[in-house]
Amino acid sequence: MNFEKYKCNLRLKNIYLRIKFYSVKTLTKDFIKEVSKILTKDKEILITGHFNPDGDSLGGSLGLFHTLKNAGFKVSIMMPSDLPGFMKWLPGAEDIFLYNKKTSLQAVNEADIIFYVDFNDESRTEFAAADLKNSKAVKVMLDHHPQPSEAIDFIFSDTEMSSASEIVFRFIEMMNFKKYLDKDAATCIFTGIMTDTLNFSVNSSLPETFKVISELLKFGIDKDKIYDKVNNNFSLKRLKLIGYLLYEKMKIVPEVSFSYMMISKEELRKFDFQAGDHEGIVNMPLSVSNVNVSLIAIENDDFIKISLRSKEDYDVNLFSRKYFNGGGHKNAAGGRIYKAYAETEKYIIESAKEYFK
Ligand code: 5GP
Ligand code: MN
Repeated sequence: MNFEKYKCNLRLKNIYLRIKFYSVKTLTKDFIKEVSKILTKDKEILITGHFNPDGDSLGGSLGLFHTLKNAGFKVSIMMPSDLPGFMKWLPGAEDIFLYNKKTSLQAVNEADIIFYVDFNDESRTEFAAADLKNSKAVKVMLDHHPQPSEAIDFIFSDTEMSSASEIVFRFIEMMNFKKYLDKDAATCIFTGIMTDTLNFSVNSSLPETFKVISELLKFGIDKDKIYDKVNNNFSLKRLKLIGYLLYEKMKIVPEVSFSYMMISKEELRKFDFQAGDHEGIVNMPLSVSNVNVSLIAIENDDFIKISLRSKEDYDVNLFSRKYFNGGGHKNAAGGRIYKAYAETEKYIIESAKEYFK
């Protein structure tokens, strides 16, 4: 492969490539050379996504899992918490083990190489973070979030890429593993790209992304069926919850074009709220022409979980970092509020007024 050409094609200006003991400016071919050196058939490989894994984290992790397995590597796949129901159909989902302090420590400790897919800091794995940090394995991060942690050995991350799944595809290509891709892997990677771009409505304007899609379609994946399985696979209660939230709970702060919805534990129970249900719901207020930022606040046992989505240059990553102990992307971020539920609404309104004024 011609790396100079590859670099141009990929618009590497925004790629962070760091090699252990090397400088930030180290060339791509060095990264591949170094990773190839450690990635050998005798090694135990573990792949993990982030806590509350979404389509991208799952699709990218599983795509890599299938490919490495087909290539003859010893590879296992873990998630720090359960999969949302609408992702459980993904090929290989049954091979995923969920992190558990008692039963997973051994797998983490025995790993020689750990791939981090779709997150920029070990803290995003929540309860698994301490074990992962303590593990002596070489950590390889495949991601597209800004500001990756310095503590990772190998980072391949590009904020211009549509998704971590696209990064996974490019990693597979660069490592010369494309011959081990199959329909299952392609289905998973496609799902990751599709979900993270909200069905190709955002973060998908680079021609290269569609070249990847074109490559994936050659494996005979059923694009329409994937869309259907992801988007038309929810419970009736979730649809009723959406109706209730939009009619009763959605509020607008017009002076800053800001929308928010709060959901209490009691409401979560009443509508049988499931992991991942917030996705899709938090986007809906943005369909109103003069709403630029949408927030959903979900009461948990120990904190209030925040999800944020925005239009154009309204930066919810920075907003979340400043007020909600979180982060993410410019147009999709998350965080937490450590306050009583009753005090949260006031805090949200004041934060939005202060930040977006
Ligand atoms: P969601 O709203 O679906 O939970 O997350 C949207 C985006 O924000 C994802 O890219 C996710 O990785 C990121 N994100 C969600 N929660 C947090 C958080 O607590 N901290 C950070 N740093 N990022 C988050
Ligand atoms: Mn994600």
